[in-house]
Amino acid sequence: MSQHPIREVSPGTVAVTAGRPPRVQGGPVNPPVVLSSTYVSAGDPGGERLYTRMDTETWGPFEETLAALEGGRHGIVLGSGMAAIAAAVGDLRPGSVVVVPRHAYQVTLGFLDDRAARYDVEVRRVDVADTDAVVAALDGADLLLAESPTNPMLEVADLPALLAAARERGVRTVVDNTFATPLGQRPLALGADVVVHSVTKYLAGHSDVVLGAVVTDDDAIAADVRAYRTLHGAIAGPMEVFLALRGLRTLHLRVERANANADELARRLAAHPAVAEVRHPSLPGDPGHERAAAQMNGFGAIIGLRPRGGRAAADAVVDAVALWVPATSLGGVESSLERRRRFATESVTVPEDLLRLSVGVEDVEDLWADLDQALSRVAAGQGLA
Ligand SMILES: *Cc1c(COP(=O)(O)O)cnc(C)c1O
Repeated sequence: MSQHPIREVSPGTVAVTAGRPPRVQGGPVNPPVVLSSTYVSAGDPGGERLYTRMDTETWGPFEETLAALEGGRHGIVLGSGMAAIAAAVGDLRPGSVVVVPRHAYQVTLGFLDDRAARYDVEVRRVDVADTDAVVAALDGADLLLAESPTNPMLEVADLPALLAAARERGVRTVVDNTFATPLGQRPLALGADVVVHSVTKYLAGHSDVVLGAVVTDDDAIAADVRAYRTLHGAIAGPMEVFLALRGLRTLHLRVERANANADELARRLAAHPAVAEVRHPSLPGDPGHERAAAQMNGFGAIIGLRPRGGRAAADAVVDAVALWVPATSLGGVESSLERRRRFATESVTVPEDLLRLSVGVEDVEDLWADLDQALSRVAAGQGLA
């Protein structure tokens, strides 16, 4: 669909140029959004489009662009990140064994627990940073559903080692690449069978859509995921996909700025007197630093922050910020934060006072000034400073 590139181009250029209509005189530069539930069709339905739950031309350009960024042959857009995860996990027959990080997106864990309760599936929760423990858990497993860095604890997995160990044992691997984005790491090149995304987050990037996607090189998995989408009806609306592609065009600019902001804020937070602990893989002392430096491009823009003063101080910081938005979700242009354990469903091993910061693309000095005033004010109020 896009013009044949003159040479291999960089990911930022792919984000801008992939999935464009053919260059024809008078033709549009952007793919049109087609709002039609059905297509003209009579008699024997051949290969043409029939009905939008099965396929619609507005999906293709987004799918093609994301697949190019992830370096996979098939990109498949679905109605949410959870729809993408459910589709990628596929059938888990009774007796199936799934290995998953103990700190993973809480709804992913809830989804697996639901399967476990209904269908006699075994879920092995592991510390994904502990390579030996994960490899041991892969024995007799059917699926590894990995996150790295993890949500919300930012543990970094040794993805090349884990994916190789899974492959040797015939274990299917799905990597949730939402936090890193394809600019931060490309799990298919590291040996994964499937990549899933909450497109809601960085890929769309503006907190205005909920969408998901699967990318794979495996034809059989791609066919299964497309069948899942049609049979379960987990489809994306054309307007949402239009917005996601529009967001994807600036992914490299947003990620570069957000990552740079996060590196700088993590460094300053680590030296702040009102802070007990900061987690961000950019910090030389962070447990995930060496691994992230070796296998990622950049360190991502999510920070784990534990203010001094425990849970009450953490809640007070959320109330005291003015620029940062108190909200769940992440990966938007606007910086946001929340205390994760406010959800009863969050893992109990996530500290009560952990704030998850999603660093956006605002001016870093403004972000810092707001955090600094909030932390200092809360510490003073608690008699800690
Ligand atoms: C948000 C999120 C999901 C779920 O995506 P939705 O689009 O909300 O369904 C899955 N994995 C991770 C890591 C997420 O942050």
